Amino acid sequence: MSRPVWRWTLLVWAVVTALGAWGLVAARRADLRAAFDLDARILHRVLSQRLEQQETILYAVAALSDQGMDPGRLNRYVQTLIHPYPQIVAAQVCTPAGCQVLASGHRPLPRLPFSFQEQPAVNWLAGEHPLYALTLRGARVWVDAQALLVASDLPREPLSVQIYRPDSGERLTGQATPAGRAAFTFSAEKQLGTRLEPFPVRFARTHSWQVWPWGRLAAWSILTMLVALGVVWLLTVRGRTHQALLDERRRAQGVVQASTDGIVVLDPQGAVVQVNPAARLIVGELRIGAAVQDQVQVGATLSQAPLDTAQFWSAREAQAFPEGTALQRNGQRILVEGGLTPLLGERGQLLGRVLTVREVGPLRQRLLARLDAGERRVREHEQMLSHVSRLSTLGEMSAGLAHELTQPLTAIVSYGQAGTRLLGQDPPDLPRARQAVQGMVTQAQRSAQIIARLRTLVRRAPAQRVQVDVVQAVHNILTLCQADLSRLAVTVETQFPVAAPALGDPVQVEQIILNLVRNALEAMDEAGECRLDLRIEAAGDWWRLTVQDSGAGLSGETLARLFQPFQTSKPGGLGLGLSLSQTLAQGLGGELTGANAPGRGARFVLTLPQWSGDVPAR
Ligand code: ADP
Repeated sequence: MSRPVWRWTLLVWAVVTALGAWGLVAARRADLRAAFDLDARILHRVLSQRLEQQETILYAVAALSDQGMDPGRLNRYVQTLIHPYPQIVAAQVCTPAGCQVLASGHRPLPRLPFSFQEQPAVNWLAGEHPLYALTLRGARVWVDAQALLVASDLPREPLSVQIYRPDSGERLTGQATPAGRAAFTFSAEKQLGTRLEPFPVRFARTHSWQVWPWGRLAAWSILTMLVALGVVWLLTVRGRTHQALLDERRRAQGVVQASTDGIVVLDPQGAVVQVNPAARLIVGELRIGAAVQDQVQVGATLSQAPLDTAQFWSAREAQAFPEGTALQRNGQRILVEGGLTPLLGERGQLLGRVLTVREVGPLRQRLLARLDAGERRVREHEQMLSHVSRLSTLGEMSAGLAHELTQPLTAIVSYGQAGTRLLGQDPPDLPRARQAVQGMVTQAQRSAQIIARLRTLVRRAPAQRVQVDVVQAVHNILTLCQADLSRLAVTVETQFPVAAPALGDPVQVEQIILNLVRNALEAMDEAGECRLDLRIEAAGDWWRLTVQDSGAGLSGETLARLFQPFQTSKPGGLGLGLSLSQTLAQGLGGELTGANAPGRGARFVLTLPQWSGDVPAR
């Protein structure tokens, strides 16, 4: 645990403990104050009643004396009256002639000159005399001020009480508590409650330090200390756990970052959460938070069956890319390996997925491309072996062909010359001229038959009728031509639907596309900026593939005889590509057309029937 945390915990503990202690002390002090107030109130009441009783006795003595009661009876009566009140030491009835003592203790009463007073009064003696007299007319009641307070009046809890003379402030009587080491003192000052004797009285109670709730204070601080230690312990454990988690996460991130395989972590919805540097190199820059399938375009290349990407991205089981999977990066297709692995929580819930991508190394990529090309060549070989062999014999046959044709052609020439001659006679020999023309027609038909036989010889075997994804086929050809595309730095612009299933022969479709792309590349060989636009769109029941280049375009002469065999402008060209491609397209039920593109370059359009699920009968 770090020092600041300790310091803060100590500070919080001290503040909480101090606040709690202050609360406990304040509560205790309030209790003590309430007890003091109650005791003072009770004692004040007792003393006030005592004074009232003295005055009542004064009024009684005055009344009885006014009635002229027999002195003996009055004496007995007054003695009975004052007996319960020890502070009343005597009563007198006075006249100007002298005073008669009615009830008296043992001590002699001080002298007090007679003065007739219609209203009750308090008469103080000079000096610090303990007695004072209450007088009303001729009656006097002598009170011992020191006896006003009786020990039994005091509460159990020591209380200091002082009664004072109202006129001089002199202390009449009091009861002081033993002086100790006082922590604090409560005090209160009141007046005793009669109009005649409004004596000030002061109450005080002192408390020592022992009155504080030391036990509870100690318990409170121990409790808060334990809580603080508990908090520190929890924080320490939490801090360690947090640190361990951080270290674990750093290690995991380090492994991900250091991996030479591309790793893309996805959330359960397929949005990108984390991308390592290798993945950025292989896949390109990915936006965090955006769906992965919008950013990573994958598709199979070596297999004709396209990758079901929707199923691939949403599967809950681990799955590997099929052999030869390629992904699109900056318009280029890169062969990759890897797959998608789901991350499952403890209860089997999907936490996310991890996409691993490994670029099939350039050597392996070339090997695969070669393999791909090799496989293709084998396939093409099977299909075209007889075709090529027939073509190769074309040269050998040309002599025979020439021989075959020379004869009818010579005959046609002879018939023509004879016909001309017969028509030039006068008169013209029409029957023989007709025979000559008829002979020309027969020889010409024979020539046509010879040529038709040759065409039949070079025509290919019937095409397959299966489902072909035109998008996939174009991708395959681009991968095949990748080396040339890179060499010429061709910018390839594609505008494809997700898939374009057509009815046709996979090899023938690719052969047509390969012819068109190769011609485009050859046309751009010398051009400045090389740009190849490929577009696939639906047109009714057809798929239309447009291949447009930025090459020199088609000259008027070439355009006029574009799809005719042996029509070439290239030094080593055969002039058979377009003618064969058109024958193949027509054989598949489609069409191939070509023209100059607006502006610059040539544009070829291949149409193929869309796949409807049924294979038409041949
Ligand atoms: P080859 O390529 O052997 O010459 P093709 O039948 O494929 O035979 O092409 C015939 C001719 O059509 C080419 O020689 C060329 O002059 C012309 N041609 C074909 N495609 C293009 C194109 N994209 N741009 C310009 N000319 C083209």
